[in-house]
Amino acid sequence: MGIELQNITKKFTGYTALDNISLNVASGELVALLGPSGCGKTTLLRIIAGLELPDSGKIILEQKDTTNLPPRKKNVGFVFQHYALFRRLTVFENVAFGLKVLPMRERPSRSAIQERVEHLLKLVQMDWAIKRYPSQLSGGQRQRVALARALAVNPKVLLLDEPFSALDAKVRQELRRWLRKLHDEIHVTSIFVTHDQEEALELADRIVVINKGRIEQQGTPQEVYDHPVNAFVYNFLGNVNVFHGRIKNGKVTLGTHHVDAPDELKHTEERASQAFVRPHEIGISRIRSAETDLAGTIQEVRIMGGQIGLNLACEGFEHPIDAEIQRELYLNLQLAKGEKVFVSLNRVRVFTSDYEI
Ligand code: ADP
Ligand code: MG
Repeated sequence: MGIELQNITKKFTGYTALDNISLNVASGELVALLGPSGCGKTTLLRIIAGLELPDSGKIILEQKDTTNLPPRKKNVGFVFQHYALFRRLTVFENVAFGLKVLPMRERPSRSAIQERVEHLLKLVQMDWAIKRYPSQLSGGQRQRVALARALAVNPKVLLLDEPFSALDAKVRQELRRWLRKLHDEIHVTSIFVTHDQEEALELADRIVVINKGRIEQQGTPQEVYDHPVNAFVYNFLGNVNVFHGRIKNGKVTLGTHHVDAPDELKHTEERASQAFVRPHEIGISRIRSAETDLAGTIQEVRIMGGQIGLNLACEGFEHPIDAEIQRELYLNLQLAKGEKVFVSLNRVRVFTSDYEI
């Protein structure tokens, strides 16, 4: 096992930032910690790195209990959200830094350092910039150098704390694909923190969803996306329509409509429910194809590239419903604001938890 966290708890003046977190990351795995701002992600990384001590619990890295070791003894590489390169040092000196400050007996020779830095800069495709200063690089380039610097000391574990979040959307997407490929080459056990579900879904072998200092769910991107265990995870993993209603006698209310409750909730006593439908799981047609179709009117059209967003006022529903359809369908049906359509909710997920949106 690369990383084993056992029952980590951390309080700040009475506030519980981490509440009994246990998590295993296999050697060579890339795990994304995904959760909203303030849920404890950075605190957990800082504890793994030894920059913060837990109140209780253990941190085992590559079979070794490192709970009370200082950061420099942990052999952990860290890349932060904000470019933490030394401004007055060149790219070469930045990457070499961690090697040059090693105690004499562990420090590689000058030529070995030179070789290693060149190798790492090639790996992150920044070898052309070896003599430059950070101010001469773009944000994305600086983060690649920061990654090379973190890898310089051959860390057992690599921790990345929202490393791309200060970059614009296109660069962020490029870098996440690049990092995924790089990880496939170097296989260093990694934890990648993000609040961006798309980033987590695209990048990680496994996703751990955190909320208020607790793990809500963990699994492969597909498992977590297709089978969210509760309302929080469902809502956090993408855009969603929420219908507050009641569950009674095996039926769930959706506006003034009723649909069959899912099997596990068929026999539950009457209580509040939340039904969720993702915008891309809504069907739009010009003719009614099933009795359950809703009559709706398009209130707004949003062009989102290949997808088109529709805001629909539907009979029996207090709030408008958001749908996303393929551009082709949109053109074929000749849809426009004010047009009447039929709406089918193709995949409704119902939860009875009292999570508030
Ligand atoms: P995230 O990285 O998920 O946004 P953090 O781990 O930074 O969340 O913070 C979790 C919670 O702990 C937040 O409510 C934050 O205000 C609090 N917190 C973090 N560090 C400290 C600290 N040193 N002192 C007091 N509270 C802190
Ligand atoms: Mg943070």
